[in-house]
Amino acid sequence: MLRFIIFLAITTGVIYYLYNKLKKSIMSILMPEQKSKKEEKNRIIKGEMIKCPVCGTYFPENTGIKKNGKVYCSIECMTEDTR
Ligand SMILES: [Zn+2]
Repeated sequence: MLRFIIFLAITTGVIYYLYNKLKKSIMSILMPEQKSKKEEKNRIIKGEMIKCPVCGTYFPENTGIKKNGKVYCSIECMTEDTR
């Protein structure tokens, strides 16, 4: 009976150790993805600064108006260029 208890204790310990190791490896797999997602989000918030082809003003790309593969700072500049 004592042997069985010792065996059970060792088995439990091994399972617990493996579980912790697995958890760590899963975390290390998941963490870089979370980091890159966060960085991507930051990049979107910050916005890539691009130059308006009409007036030459620098503005965040995500706030610009896209037309014919060009990005303009405002509707005015877009109509100015397409006119
Ligand atoms: Zn402009």
